[in-house]
Amino acid sequence: MAKQKEDYYRVLGVERSATQVEIKSAYRKLAMKYHPDRNPGNIEAEEQFKTVNEAFEVLSDDKKRQLYDAYGHEAASMGGGPGGFSSGFGGFEDIFSSVFGDMFGGSFGGGASRQRAPRAARGNDIKQNITLTLEEAYSGMEESISYNRIDTCSVCHGTGAQEGSGVKTCPTCKGSGVVQFSQGFFSMRQTCPDCNGQGTLIEKPCRSCRGVGREKAKNTITVKIPQGVRDGIVLRVPNGGDIGANGGGYGDLYIETKVKKHKIFQRDGDDLIIERDISYPSAVLGDVFKVENIKKEEVKVVVPEGSEHGAVVSLEGEGMPVLGKAGRYGNLKVVLGIEIPKKLTPKQKELIKNLGESFAKEEPKKNIFEKFFSFLF
Ligand SMILES: [Zn+2]
Ligand SMILES: [Zn+2]
Repeated sequence: MAKQKEDYYRVLGVERSATQVEIKSAYRKLAMKYHPDRNPGNIEAEEQFKTVNEAFEVLSDDKKRQLYDAYGHEAASMGGGPGGFSSGFGGFEDIFSSVFGDMFGGSFGGGASRQRAPRAARGNDIKQNITLTLEEAYSGMEESISYNRIDTCSVCHGTGAQEGSGVKTCPTCKGSGVVQFSQGFFSMRQTCPDCNGQGTLIEKPCRSCRGVGREKAKNTITVKIPQGVRDGIVLRVPNGGDIGANGGGYGDLYIETKVKKHKIFQRDGDDLIIERDISYPSAVLGDVFKVENIKKEEVKVVVPEGSEHGAVVSLEGEGMPVLGKAGRYGNLKVVLGIEIPKKLTPKQKELIKNLGESFAKEEPKKNIFEKFFSFLF
């Protein structure tokens, strides 16, 4: 890919000022010379054939030629946008047929290269989401997922034929799977459009799948969700996708986990976080209270003496299970907020006033009382 590309004008052997007639004529000569049917097994000729087609693709289109003249091969990487080289480029076989089509009375249908067997393509991959609550992510679970995919037709078992229907030789290609065109000194083959290269046709197509051999079907799989699963984890289920054409096998199923937000617990990796307000005396003197962990069990929170607003008490092992590490758990972090009472009785006001005065006398510089009220303002 990184190979230095040859100048398109040089490829076609024309001047930079060449007219469209000259370009087309040069292209015809070279395309005939390098055509794969005239050079069977010659990889160099095939490469040259592609290069010639690529050059013609650009130089035969005024817009693309202008871009090429201005930017050279760089213009190609400008890609997709209007006027970019890749717009409307349907592969060299299309160009080939558009230039030579008239010569063949319009019967040339693409597929300029050698005979092709019907291609066995692997089926498409499918993506599904699975949504869990935080509790389900904690405990792990088994979940059944039902979804639609393309599968082998259950009526004809993939043959595409009605029961009792035979298979007949394709009359178009007489069973070869290939149709041949011969015009003048030119001879070309392409995959038979009627039987898709199979060489046979079904006499009575299956009514369920209309002869395709595949149809939409519901599939159900059971997935074991491990403990501690996080949001955005993708599980791959081999062969859970669509079945491919011509025996190409199944694609895969990808299941992405979505863990719902919890109304109480926030999650931070394997840790859980909750917030609790405590009173000023509890913060100053220390306290003990209880919270519910995610299993709805009561656990003890010990507030140390002199806790500040925003202080965190970490309860070891009360968080989420660590994914893939059985028996290991994160922590439950309790973030302490200090409640400022809004309504006080005259008695309480008096007490706090006295407290403030006592702090002022004892410790005029490091005033805890001021600190306490600092978050009021
Ligand atoms: Zn069928
Ligand atoms: Zn055929």
